Amino acid sequence: MQTLEALTRDAKALANGDIVLSAPESEVARQLQICNACRYCEGFCAVFPAMTRRLEFGKADIHFIANLCHNCGACLHACQYAPPHEFAVNIPQAMAQVRGQTYADYAWPPALGQLYQRNGLTLALALVAGLTLFLLLAVGLHGQGVSALWQSPAGGFYGIFPHNLLVGLFAPVFLFAVLALGLGVRRFWRDVTPATSGAPLSAPATAEATDAVLRLKYLDGGHGDGCHNEDDAYTLSRRRMHHLTFYGFLLCFAATSVATLYHYLLALPAPYDLPSLPKLLGGLGGISLAIGTAGLWRLNLRRHPQHGDAAQKPMDRAFIALLFLTATSGLALWAARGTPALPLLLCLHLGAVMALFATLPYGKFAHGIFRTASLLRHAVEKRQPNPIGLGAD
Ligand code: SF4
Ligand code: SF4
Repeated sequence: MQTLEALTRDAKALANGDIVLSAPESEVARQLQICNACRYCEGFCAVFPAMTRRLEFGKADIHFIANLCHNCGACLHACQYAPPHEFAVNIPQAMAQVRGQTYADYAWPPALGQLYQRNGLTLALALVAGLTLFLLLAVGLHGQGVSALWQSPAGGFYGIFPHNLLVGLFAPVFLFAVLALGLGVRRFWRDVTPATSGAPLSAPATAEATDAVLRLKYLDGGHGDGCHNEDDAYTLSRRRMHHLTFYGFLLCFAATSVATLYHYLLALPAPYDLPSLPKLLGGLGGISLAIGTAGLWRLNLRRHPQHGDAAQKPMDRAFIALLFLTATSGLALWAARGTPALPLLLCLHLGAVMALFATLPYGKFAHGIFRTASLLRHAVEKRQPNPIGLGAD
């Protein structure tokens, strides 16, 4: 329910022709007004220094600040005004609700923003569709019927699915995902840039934001002891599991990229064996991704109920599960080479990768893209003079 203050602000915004805040945005604005008077959490993360540069919070400010929050939980456990206090300040939850809205609002094409609403179901359907596609192709391609699904094929993977067919299926889906994410974050960038000084990117700002992204700086609680998960104890587990997942994903992507170069530039077609670079990168990446996602799943199940937005749990868990399936089915393929289990495992792996690619712009993956954009804008803004001359940067 909106407060009288929020309704008054909306009425003023309407009268001025400004954009009206949604209920989650109004709630963030209300809580940030309290935080701006308190400022106890100033050293925790980038959110509070960004907040102190503002006395009022418009739509773009709120989207920018919400995407700076890493949902570490530190400000909830430190807050004397957290529920059951009547001020009901719960910054991680309020920010998470706005972030969910951000992803949907900036989705491209806009109609597909609805896929965030029932994201667990979306990912499950995408997986079923991907799996069905590859099972049908495996059965239909060589005229052997369903027996093709449990015969050790001559020629390995490409004896089941020709290389050019796989490129023809995956390349358009992947390029569409890159385009959709790129157009979405470009619109976000255009909206938040005027609210964050309007200054252009500089090399030092880019370097600082890149460092924050690569080290997941704001999951360290501001003191290096870590963030919170199930209670008010500090833990580095979330940061470590995120790192294993993030770098595992990058290594798998690097393995695919190097394999593509081998194929087209060096005329060295797959399969590759150890100690080839694609195999090393893919093996390390798969193991890292499997461990990281298993850890994130366990942490997610135990997460404090007041952290984040309960409505987004299906999205979080479906994405973690899909990444885990992608990693473990890829590793299982390695073990199954030359055995009759290969065709089914290959269908499972390719179906999971296809579902992952197709849903990248409409699921949890978006949090990394929008958060990076906000960290870049924060690094730019903090280098400009404080417009209200209060608080330290
Ligand atoms: S979260 Fe609570 S303790 Fe932290 S700045 Fe806001 S009001 Fe103060
Ligand atoms: S939850 Fe963590 S990252 Fe988010 S605002 Fe609070 S202290 Fe900052």
